[in-house]
Amino acid sequence: MVASRDYHESAPDHISDKPDYINTWPPHCMVGTPGAAFVPSIQNLVREKYIETVVTKGRTAAAYSAFDGFDVRGHRLLDVLKENRVDHVDVCGIATDYCVRASALDARKNEFQVRVLVNLCAAVNEATGQQALEEMKAAGIQLQAATAP
Ligand SMILES: [Zn+2]
Repeated sequence: MVASRDYHESAPDHISDKPDYINTWPPHCMVGTPGAAFVPSIQNLVREKYIETVVTKGRTAAAYSAFDGFDVRGHRLLDVLKENRVDHVDVCGIATDYCVRASALDARKNEFQVRVLVNLCAAVNEATGQQALEEMKAAGIQLQAATAP
């Protein structure tokens, strides 16, 4: 299980005091602030090692896809997945229309079987969220609800 996070130091193409909520966003996940931390429920999974790998992305520029992230060793997500002989990927998180979309599409481009767990995702905007779901479906990504274990 891998968690991906934005971890911004300075990303002028991505963060703005006057964001358009399409290409630029208010300051978020800024290094050295509480906003850079995982929410406690995810942090617990990291501490207990259910989440084995954390990939960090976007230090100095926009990075929506988890495949743009690096683990603590500096390895890209694709290499981590190959190393662990992963061939199926389930994607969930925020936001459906940005990071989930980009990560799921990159996973498909890299020939993984991909499912997006739609009930564990949230979109920034309903219309672009719907558009992203259609685009992912057209790319061969399965959209389904996660069920309790
Ligand atoms: Zn960001």
